[in-house]
Amino acid sequence: MAEAASTSPRALLDLPLTCPTCRALLHGGGTNQRRCSNCDRQWDLVGSKWWFGGEDVVVTGDATDSLKSRLKVHDKLYGVLIDIFSPVFPHFISERRHLRKQMTPSMLAIDVGSGNTRLMEGVVNVDLMPYPNVDVVTSADGLPFADDSVDLVFSIAVLEHVTDPHAAIAELVRVLKPGGQAYVFVPFIQGFHAAPYDFQRFTKPGLELALSDLTIQRTESFGPTSGLVWVLGEWLSIPFSLGIAPLQRWLALIFMTLLSPLKFLDVLFRRMPGGENISTGFLVVATKGPATLTAQPEAV
Ligand SMILES: [Zn+2]
Repeated sequence: MAEAASTSPRALLDLPLTCPTCRALLHGGGTNQRRCSNCDRQWDLVGSKWWFGGEDVVVTGDATDSLKSRLKVHDKLYGVLIDIFSPVFPHFISERRHLRKQMTPSMLAIDVGSGNTRLMEGVVNVDLMPYPNVDVVTSADGLPFADDSVDLVFSIAVLEHVTDPHAAIAELVRVLKPGGQAYVFVPFIQGFHAAPYDFQRFTKPGLELALSDLTIQRTESFGPTSGLVWVLGEWLSIPFSLGIAPLQRWLALIFMTLLSPLKFLDVLFRRMPGGENISTGFLVVATKGPATLTAQPEAV
């Protein structure tokens, strides 16, 4: 579940920022204003966020996405609701427990496409949308971080929402330090969910191929029942909404919530034969070159 943790203003002033367009170093370190040494563009730290483009306000998709965006402002409550009522089993609880043991104060961890969720204390949140807990507002395909500067990169359910996932992956790889680690989750069997956009899905080999510039340590299937709950909830909403479009979105949400307890079967099913074929999604843990962090989480 999400935590009400934050990144200190000092940490934001110390970030290894570069120009997102020409990659040159920024002048003005330690102040709340930076200027590109090459193209002379200027960026500002305003309202506890570095603004490197992105949206001025939070943009939402359909009715479900609008509801989610309103709930996301209450980050702790939203995290609990998602863990309990979303169709997807919350495997990240055990992943986070594992990561907390490895993280040290000197490490730089960024969550690209964080939304309003702070995965762990000290993680720098990066997003296209300026949610309250976002520290750096920018596009995933133009990260304003120096090459080889980040110890840990998260990309959790983000690549389906970007227009060019391969460009976004190239950026994750570029900013990672040699030995740094990437946690990349993408959906496979999930319904369309604009937030505010939704462009693609990945199979397990498709995701591993897309991340082939990294050394893959493990790939986790998040489970077939989670996929089934999402699809069945959407399917039931079609006849019961009687052709009324706004009602269909709400019924899909209600059916998925009612069916959500079934997702706990994925503790068993996700590693059983056939479980990967309709898994709701896959998490790849990978490093840039030889690993310096261990890959295995605690047992669920
Ligand atoms: Zn520049």
